[in-house]
Amino acid sequence: MKWWKLAVFASIAWVLLLVTLTAGVIWYVSARPLGVKEADAREELVGMLVGALLGGGLVAIWLGAYIWHKVRTNRVAAVTAADLGLSDFAPCPACSSRRVQKVTYTWWGGLLGPALFRHVKCLNCGATFNGLTGKSNAVPIAIYLGVGIALVVVAVIAWIHWAM
Ligand SMILES: [Zn+2]
Repeated sequence: MKWWKLAVFASIAWVLLLVTLTAGVIWYVSARPLGVKEADAREELVGMLVGALLGGGLVAIWLGAYIWHKVRTNRVAAVTAADLGLSDFAPCPACSSRRVQKVTYTWWGGLLGPALFRHVKCLNCGATFNGLTGKSNAVPIAIYLGVGIALVVVAVIAWIHWAM
């Protein structure tokens, strides 16, 4: 299925779900009458809530579907290129295979880290390395993790300082 068709279906399902929920809330509210002023304030609140849920949900659905589509096409393109021997990457430092695939996501760097260090994986032996230089990425990864942890620590200290 095309990614945008999936997103369209998900959007319709989301709208229907919200309409059902809103109808439920309206039914619940109308069963418990309040003064005119309170009813108006409550209507406004429900309207805002439904609007935020609708907008946020639709943005999340389309963003998620688009990223999923991008990741999938990237993976297919990388595998095809590697199989044809058209890889733009350096050969594997462990087994010198040229069947190398770009890594889009890692536990240590999320989406940003592997892109930053041109992190690739050997399809022959599974070693990961820098696809541009053909050398190990161990030191850059260690620095990246160190800087990341330092930033988190600084943020936590700043937050504690601000909260006191
Ligand atoms: Zn290898």
